[in-house]
Amino acid sequence: MIYLDNAATTKPNYQTVTIASLYLSEDFYNPSALYNKAYNVRRRIAKARSGIASYIGADLSELYFTSGATESNNWVLRGYVDWCMINEVNPCIIMSEIEHKSINDCVAQLKRVFPNLEVRKIPVNSKGRIYLPTLQRIMQDITMFCKIPLVSIQFANSEIGTIQKIKSISDIIHKYNGVFHTDATQAIGQFSIDVKKLGIDLLSASGQKFGGFKGTGILYQSVTCCCIEPLILGSQERGQRGGTENVAGIISMDQALKTTYMSTSVVDSITEVRDYFIKRLIDKFDCRLNGVNNKDDPLCRLINNINVTFPQKITGESLIYLLDAADIMISSGSACNSRENVPSPVLKAMGLTDDEIMRTVRMTISKDTTKDDVDKVIEEIDKAIRLLSMGVDSQNPQE
Ligand code: PMP
Repeated sequence: MIYLDNAATTKPNYQTVTIASLYLSEDFYNPSALYNKAYNVRRRIAKARSGIASYIGADLSELYFTSGATESNNWVLRGYVDWCMINEVNPCIIMSEIEHKSINDCVAQLKRVFPNLEVRKIPVNSKGRIYLPTLQRIMQDITMFCKIPLVSIQFANSEIGTIQKIKSISDIIHKYNGVFHTDATQAIGQFSIDVKKLGIDLLSASGQKFGGFKGTGILYQSVTCCCIEPLILGSQERGQRGGTENVAGIISMDQALKTTYMSTSVVDSITEVRDYFIKRLIDKFDCRLNGVNNKDDPLCRLINNINVTFPQKITGESLIYLLDAADIMISSGSACNSRENVPSPVLKAMGLTDDEIMRTVRMTISKDTTKDDVDKVIEEIDKAIRLLSMGVDSQNPQE
């Protein structure tokens, strides 16, 4: 089996599963209860909060546990509009054209409910980088009628792996009194992030992308940021996010971050496998790499991301099915969009045609992926392309 869909989810390691199972079976107590065993669970959550907060350079009072980046993103956007309504401030959300569906759909619904919500979208170039002069111009414009605009720009893109220039973005936003939210779901765990140094006011992430469990996540809210109302009310998380804590999930995130921390040598070896993979795809099939080319800008592409368009007459979807039959798992893009038969909005925003998008696949490797795996995948892609050029039905390759 070769798993190349680590941007969709990652495999939790043994230590993470072991510690979580302790809190599922033995120390299963409700952390809000008054007896000693519950107090111990509460203390363990506090330890996890402090561990995760320090991992991103935050204070533990600035970290909230959620059910994942989807909830964290919804919390920021809805919480901001609620705050604006309560404080009679004109709401304005600025976002990039390549945000995750949990941002896009939430903003679209907010706009339906609050027609006076101002929404501006920043385009991206052919590499998936947002135009900083456009951001600057929009901020300048917006501050004429909105005192505190919210800007949501992802840290790194899940499909093409492009990393944005976060510090330059936050500098522009703060110059115009804006609040900066970043969806760092694909970035956390791949390299160190210091929210204070980067000027990030709000940050969302999901445990499942860095070796934790599905249904776990965080929202970092800087103490200086006070324009977000709670989304889910209740007594937990200092009244900011109700619901009994997902104890095992929270502890698993802390453990996962500790064990997924990558030394420079691991980062270098993943990068080497990624670049070997890209080279082999280009040499053998004449593929076009989407996103930032490592040679142009080495630190601007996620170390595990490969996104390529094939020139051959194939579809990404048929390649997925044929490789699956060989026990190789790849993807056509974001897992959250993959069942909707629409061309990727991210690739569209970068200027790819519908036909090119159809011929595109994403492969996301891990530290366990080897060059031998890459050679095997190249061999299977070659076979698949030959079959497809003979008109074989990819969903029934045996027939
Ligand atoms: N943002 C990004 C960039 C993502 O890649 C994902 C997951 N595909 C999410 C948000 C949502 O994460 P979750 O489904 O764990 O809530």
